[in-house]
Amino acid sequence: MVFAALALSIFLNSGCKKIAGPGAQAEYVLGTYCRIDLFENGNGELYNRLFSRLAELDRLLSANRDDSELAQVNRNAGLEPASVSPELLAVLERSLYFAEISGGAFDPTVGPLVKLWGIGTETPRIPPEEEIRVALDLVNWRDLEITRQNGGTAFLKRRGMALDLGAIAKGYAADELAEILRKAGIPRAIIDLGGNAYVWGTKNGGDPWSIGVQDPMQERGNYAGILKLGNSASIVSSGIYERYFTENGRRWHHIMDLTEAGGRRGYPAENGLFSTTVILTSSMDADALSTACFVLGYEKGLALARANGAEILFIFEDKTIRGSPGALEAFSLTGDYRIP
Ligand code: FAD
Ligand code: MG
Repeated sequence: MVFAALALSIFLNSGCKKIAGPGAQAEYVLGTYCRIDLFENGNGELYNRLFSRLAELDRLLSANRDDSELAQVNRNAGLEPASVSPELLAVLERSLYFAEISGGAFDPTVGPLVKLWGIGTETPRIPPEEEIRVALDLVNWRDLEITRQNGGTAFLKRRGMALDLGAIAKGYAADELAEILRKAGIPRAIIDLGGNAYVWGTKNGGDPWSIGVQDPMQERGNYAGILKLGNSASIVSSGIYERYFTENGRRWHHIMDLTEAGGRRGYPAENGLFSTTVILTSSMDADALSTACFVLGYEKGLALARANGAEILFIFEDKTIRGSPGALEAFSLTGDYRIP
């Protein structure tokens, strides 16, 4: 099993040298390796504030701990609505938006299926068809009810349903950190929450940011190409390389196909893609879109990204790279791929 924590690594223009930055700091939180670089404005107090915020969001949004607010919603499934904070409510609202516009390709109620496959845990497995069928029956975003009344509540209508915000919450966290930087008047920074990157402000000297797009078939830190971006933007990747296990000579990755077009089989999505990379100001939206577009595949995914004002790159198993015009314009190949 492989945990490649950083899908995107960010490096200086000169010779692809990794930024160590005197102030850069990293911590393991949100189930991944999170790294923040405040460059010359780095100081202990601000780093502490940023990482404390990540820890706070973990306590709120994690499907991996029993004491999170999200876990309380899951425990109440089929019983009664649970009180939720405005923050969890905001992420759930946005999740339902993306579930709807993606036709359920992105679904925040994917929890039972994620638990069943156990991909990313010590004990992943290919579940029996019958168990997949039972879990899949419990996955349906239409059975998630949220309301702003009574201080905000969320309700999963059927017993056994479970939220899992793994495909969107890191994006929300990146946006929250960017907001802290904005309020603190920090002119430039890099946030990397394991595949969710945010380049904040402009680089010293005005050069564009260079962001390496992970080569899905190579060790972390090997790039299929480089994106050059002038201003603040979030860059979020989803792919077969982040979490997977190998069995029966096949790779079983963590992004589940829930679409009618894919047969709604409850298996990892298979559509000839290695990865998607979305560029957008909102990291939460980029996160949801990167997963939704991966599940939907090239044509539908491209249309969905464009409809939401996002730029997107698709890396295919046949080692070609396609994408939206703006993304391709900002992108240059460095790895063993081609743009047809
Ligand atoms: P993305 O493509 O953005 O998301 C894929 C993930 O979303 C899957 O892993 C699954 O959880 C879910 N998913 C799969 N298919 C779909 C679908 N069709 N629609 C919607 N969602 C889908 N991991 C741990 O191992 N331990 C932890 O303690 C832990 N804590 C976490 C706490 C928080 C608050 C969050 C947000 C995540 C946590 N994780 C933890 C999960 C971990 O970091 C995931 O690997 C990560 O969220 C997946 O993100 P990604 O960018 O790789 O892929
Ligand atoms: Mg995502």
